[in-house]
Amino acid sequence: MDSIGSVSVPPSPEPVTPPPAAPLDAGEPLAAGLPADTAPPGAGVPDAFGRLWTPHRLAYIQGEGKPTGPGAHEGCPFCLAPTLTDEEGLIVARGELVYAVMNLYPYNSGHVLICPYRHLADYTELNSAETAEFSDYTKRTIAALRVVSGPHGFNLGMNLGSVAGAGIAAHLHQHVVPRWGGDTNFMPVVGRTRVLPQLVADARKLLADAWPRA
Ligand SMILES: [Zn+2]
Repeated sequence: MDSIGSVSVPPSPEPVTPPPAAPLDAGEPLAAGLPADTAPPGAGVPDAFGRLWTPHRLAYIQGEGKPTGPGAHEGCPFCLAPTLTDEEGLIVARGELVYAVMNLYPYNSGHVLICPYRHLADYTELNSAETAEFSDYTKRTIAALRVVSGPHGFNLGMNLGSVAGAGIAAHLHQHVVPRWGGDTNFMPVVGRTRVLPQLVADARKLLADAWPRA
């Protein structure tokens, strides 16, 4: 499928339907529709939905780092991040109107978010210049990730509204999630305890250094 307008990027014989209810009211279910690159042994009855296990996201789901309200000054992390240093805010690159930031609660190593500086909830609220840079920064993120870690593929997408799974629904953000064959098996084993806490800061530096300048 060539379209990038849907979170369900890969072709599927199944109609587009919501994934089965998760046991937790997980923040952003982007990964719920991701394909399994390989079927894990003993995975039970297969269905149309692969799953990327992210136990490290529990802290987020349980409320750490969540805004207290919908306003820009109610703890919005995407309004806060640009006010910090690149290292503190995990900023990869700053544009005129948008910026790229590491997801503190990644689905996968190298999970980047593209955000407008303006506290907007909906994609249609971006003006023309913001839309252009938003798209440009998405492309640069993909390019930088290819340089740094050679993903086999990517999932891109936005969840607009809490009902669609947006964890921070009040501030628009585009996910860029690198994928590797077998990553759904790799992550639960080592992702939480050894790789991710270190990798988010390290990945930020690697991506910032590899960021393609205009
Ligand atoms: Zn905000």
